Amino acid sequence: MPAAAPLEDHSIEFRLAVPEGEGYIGNPDDYVDAAGYEALQQNLAETDSDGRRGASPTSKASVEALETTEIKSELEALACAVCKDIVGVGEMVKKLPCGHGYHEDCIIPWLGSRNSCLVCRYELPTDDAEYEEERKKRATAAAAPSSSSGGIGGISGDYETQFF
Ligand SMILES: [Zn+2]
Ligand SMILES: [Zn+2]
Repeated sequence: MPAAAPLEDHSIEFRLAVPEGEGYIGNPDDYVDAAGYEALQQNLAETDSDGRRGASPTSKASVEALETTEIKSELEALACAVCKDIVGVGEMVKKLPCGHGYHEDCIIPWLGSRNSCLVCRYELPTDDAEYEEERKKRATAAAAPSSSSGGIGGISGDYETQFF
């Protein structure tokens, strides 16, 4: 029963003790500024990542599912849109579902922070559930062409099963 009273006393004592400490009373503004500054920095960081919501990383499953082939002849050589260099004979080319190819070493880091083809903006599945919802809505609204939906649908379907 008397437990509440001592507790209250304690907190009052504590609060009284703080202003008595040197420095705190001398420059309370400095103290607030420093704390406020940190909060602001954190806020900015969070706002920043939220602002880039449109650029979600491609889901790992989709990246792993991408076809990698070796360029066997000059006819297959193509330009990598990441480094603007040619993927030549003997080099490995990573193909996105849209058919555009890149150096494996170029497109993997890119897909680690984005989910779109640099050439045609084709969007790959992401690990971001919210983003996927948005994308489905957009795809339905735009009545996407049926050409490549089979393979992609399989990948994202698989992925969703794992996710949930
Ligand atoms: Zn490249
Ligand atoms: Zn493309």
